[in-house]
Amino acid sequence: MVTSTSTPCPSCRSAMQMHALPGNHGKPVELDLCFHCQGMWIDSQENLKLSAAAVADLFRLLHEQRRDGACAFADPTQD
Ligand SMILES: [Zn+2]
Repeated sequence: MVTSTSTPCPSCRSAMQMHALPGNHGKPVELDLCFHCQGMWIDSQENLKLSAAAVADLFRLLHEQRRDGACAFADPTQD
C-alpha cells in the first residue's frame, strides 16, 4: 500500500511516500521512502520488524524508481 506523506524528505526536501511492507509478525511495517534521492526513513527498531521478503521488495521498489538509468550491474564495456 502506498500513501503520500506530508513530511518532506529530510535529505532533499522532496515529497516522500509511505509504503506498508510485510513484517515478521504479520503486522505491516510502514516506511517513508524518497524516490528522488533513494532515501528510506526507518524508525528505531523498524528495520528489525521487516520480513526478509519485505527487504527484497524494498530494494526492488527503490530500483524500479531510479531515474538516472544507472545500474549497479551494468556492463562498463557497454556505452
Ligand atoms: Zn530525498
